[in-house]
Order: sequence, then C-alpha cells, then structure tokens
Amino acid sequence: MEYEVVIGMETHIELDTASKMFCRCSAQFFGAEPNTHVCPVCLGMPGALPVINKRAVEYAMMVGLALNCKIARYTFWERKSYWYPDLPKGYQISQYQYPLCYDGWIEVDVRDVTGGWQEHAERRRIRIRRAHLEEDTGKLTHAGSYSYVDYNRSGVPLLEIVTEPDIRSADEAYAYLSALQQIVRYLGVSSGDMEKGAMRCEPNLSLRPKGSAEFGVKVEIKNLNSLRAVRDAIAYEIERQTRILRSGGRIQQVTLGWDETRRVTTVQREKESAHDYRYFPEPDLPPLHIDEAWLAEVRARVPELALARQDRYRRDYGLSAYDAVQLTAERAIAEWFEEALSASPSNADLRARAKALANWIQTELFRLMRANNMSLAEVRRAKIQPAQLAQLIELVEQSVINQNTAKQVFEEAFHSGADPRAIVEAKGLAQISDVDALRAVVNEVVAAHPQQVQQVISGQEKVFGFLVGQVMKATRGKANAQMVNQLLREVIEEAKRAQA
Ligand code: ADP
Ligand code: MG
Ligand code: ZN
Repeated sequence: MEYEVVIGMETHIELDTASKMFCRCSAQFFGAEPNTHVCPVCLGMPGALPVINKRAVEYAMMVGLALNCKIARYTFWERKSYWYPDLPKGYQISQYQYPLCYDGWIEVDVRDVTGGWQEHAERRRIRIRRAHLEEDTGKLTHAGSYSYVDYNRSGVPLLEIVTEPDIRSADEAYAYLSALQQIVRYLGVSSGDMEKGAMRCEPNLSLRPKGSAEFGVKVEIKNLNSLRAVRDAIAYEIERQTRILRSGGRIQQVTLGWDETRRVTTVQREKESAHDYRYFPEPDLPPLHIDEAWLAEVRARVPELALARQDRYRRDYGLSAYDAVQLTAERAIAEWFEEALSASPSNADLRARAKALANWIQTELFRLMRANNMSLAEVRRAKIQPAQLAQLIELVEQSVINQNTAKQVFEEAFHSGADPRAIVEAKGLAQISDVDALRAVVNEVVAAHPQQVQQVISGQEKVFGFLVGQVMKATRGKANAQMVNQLLREVIEEAKRAQA
C-alpha cells in the first residue's frame, strides 16, 4: 500500500527585542556569563510584577500580518502551569484562548533541487492555525551527573506559530521553514538562526493510506537544530513508519528526538495523558486591546516579502526563477537591486537592465563580497553603491568601455566607492571606437603577421582570433571589439582580392 505523510509544524521564534517580554532585562546576552541578565521578574520571585514589552507585541503582529493572519483586537495573557527546573515561576505566561494572530496562510515554492536547480516549482499553501506570544524558559545544560541552569534566556519574547496539518513531504516542510525564516529576517524581528536556537521547530507527523481522508496516529519530533536535520528526520520517520505499517504493525503515539550523530529518531517520551496546564488568566497583566490605528501603524512596517518580489521580478522584468530567488534571498539584496534598477535612465529597456544587474550582482558583487568577507550592509557603508552599478552598465551599453574593462572598473569602484565614470576618465580606460585610429592599429598588425593573414585567407578561422587578440594587446584591451572584428575582416578581404 502507498502511504502519504501528513505534517503540522509547531515553531518557536525568539523575537530580537532589546529587552525581555515582561521585564527590563536585556534580551541581548549572546556570549554573556550565565545568570547575568536576570531580575526578580524573570527569576519568578514572588511579588515581582511583569510589564508588557510593546515592541515584542508589535513584532508578533508583524509576523502575523506577513502570514496573512487575522489579528485579535482583544486578547489576554494566561498562565500555563507546569513544573520544570528551567521555569522558575512554575508557570509560563502565554496566550491560549485568544492567540494574538490566527487563521492565516503562507505560500511556499517547493522545488526538487536534488541534482541541480529547477526552474519549475510547485506552489503550496499552508494554513497557519495560530501564532501567539509567550516567554522563553531558561536553558538547561547536562554534564555528567550534574545539570546546570542559565536564566539569561528566561523571559525572552517567544512567538509560537502552529500550522494546520497541511504539509505533505519532507521537502515541503523544509520549504515552509525556510520561508518562515526568510520572513522573520525580512521583517528584522529575529535572526531565525536554528543553530543558535532562535528558531526551534517540532514537526507533528503521521502517515495514512494514500487517498484516505482520516489522519493517522501522530508522533512529534524534537531536538532539530538545522533545516537539514528537519528534512532528514522527517524522511527517516516516513521510511520507518511505512515499514511498520506495511508489515501490519501499529504506530505508537510518542515524542521522538532526532539523534544527529546516529541519524535516527529515538523515543523521548511515551504517550502521556493529555497535559493539564491549568490555564487561567494572568492576574498581574492587563488584557491587550489592539485598535485600528495601532494595527495600521504596524502594518505599514511590513515590507514586500520575498515571494511577492520574485513574482514581480519575473512578471515585470522577465527574470528567470533562479535569478528572482537569488535576488530576493535577503531583503538587503532585493533593495539593492531595486535601487540600482530605479537609477536607470527612463528610456532604458528595463528587462535588459534587470538581467544585466542580476548578472553583475550574482557574479562580481557576490564574488568580491565573499573574497573580502563582507556583508551587503558593509558594502552600503563605504563601497560601490547601487546607482554606481547602474552607471557602469550604462557605460557598457554606450560602448564607452567593453565588458572586460567594466569588470576592472567594477572592482575598483567596489573598493573605493568612486563613480565608474570618474574611474574611466582618470585611468583613460575609455574604449577606442575611433575608426581611423583602429584602422591604423589593424593595418600594423596585419603588416606584422603576413603568415597568419595568409592562413586566414586559406580558411583557418581560428587564426582570425589570434589577430583580433594582437589588436587588443596593442590597445591594452581598450579597442572596441566589434569594430576590430569588422575592420580586420575588411583588411583581410582586401588582401585576398589583391592576390586573386
Ligand atoms: P496536540 O494537542 O497534540 O499538541 P494539536 O491538535 O494542538 O495537537 O496540533 C499540534 C500540531 O500537530 C499542529 O501543527 C497540527 O496541525 C498537527 N497535527 C494534528 N494532528 C495531526 C496528525 N494526525 N498528523 C500530523 N499532524 C497533526
Ligand atoms: Mg503539541
Ligand atoms: Zn528580568
């Protein structure tokens, strides 16, 4: 029998605010000593009073809006009671009855890229059930027979995003999480780094006979520290469960952990009776009212996202899916590209211009950024600017410089931030397009290489390239290549006729 996988994803995202969710402690403690960013509130001391971090609420709303969610106009905080050493209060402040964001959806392009890039993608819509705001717990470290707890993370704003069980493959789960990660980065609300725990996800997964409408018994997978681990763990589980089902076995409802070194899932917890978290309204915090004005203000901060930009680039500029994906990988790249494009003269062919920009950005710009270990933000500060790349492309289009010289000018502009036009002038790099000047050089080359000219006349086309190269060499690469070709042909034709 053929089985189909059904996956629903629960994801926690740490919001990158300056302070914590309910206290003034700094939420930026990367690399700090344990338990140095704490206070009575986030240590859960009796009598300490929480205060809502407005920025965290706004960040959560931005994600909700980006995920096409409805935003609750009224919500309140609830205590989710459970006991664990990383939770000093004995409860977590969360949202249960009225999540801040609910009933949304996200579209993702799923590509089978095993064995190379594919232009074709299947666009899938995954419904978002809810996204609610809560606080992170402390961090436990186990070493030998000891356990250590660090409360720096306790009280960091956390957004939990839960999908409907709409995901149908490991690749789709991967695509969903990459899209989500890209969105929080575009919004600037989280680093989204899975390796650092800023984004943590737990797939819920079940199998069912293909074509069946009912869901099977689900397992939950924890301890996934990278996008790759998510894909691998899901693929592993699909295989394991298919084997069990085919041999007539049953799936146990368990919580699994992914063992990255052994590349297998292991049972962490057997099915437990449904948790009773004894949710009840948090008495120390006022309910949250969100009015239209505030919502509009937050909505205005949500930029156009990657997928929308990809569609627009392909539709309006005829770019390939590959180029569109590369140019929108990060918001900074997309904005750089768009700024360069809008610096083009009004009569420019936008499609040709967009393609030229896409090429320059992906080859020369990225190459030099990599070679100098530099981010686009750093390039912005002191290096080549978008309008300068537009100017460079214009110099090529107007045949002021040829492609090779342009690369040289780009590198110079990349480092100095000088205008390409100024570089071309200062260094005398302008292409020689003067017919008489070029004809003189061509004549010299022809006179100096009678044997090669004879070979071209007798049909050895390869040697023609050699002669072009000689002209380029004589002009230090500045000759207009098209004109050199034409002039050389003329001169050789003449010689041929003279011999006949
Ligand atoms: P629980 O109460 O066990 O946490 P929920 O109904 O709250 O379960 O759902 C948690 C996540 O699991 C959601 O993302 C949901 O879409 C997904 N899910 C629910 N049932 C299944 C199933 N049978 N197979 C796969 N995913 C499921
Ligand atoms: Mg659950
Ligand atoms: Zn604190």
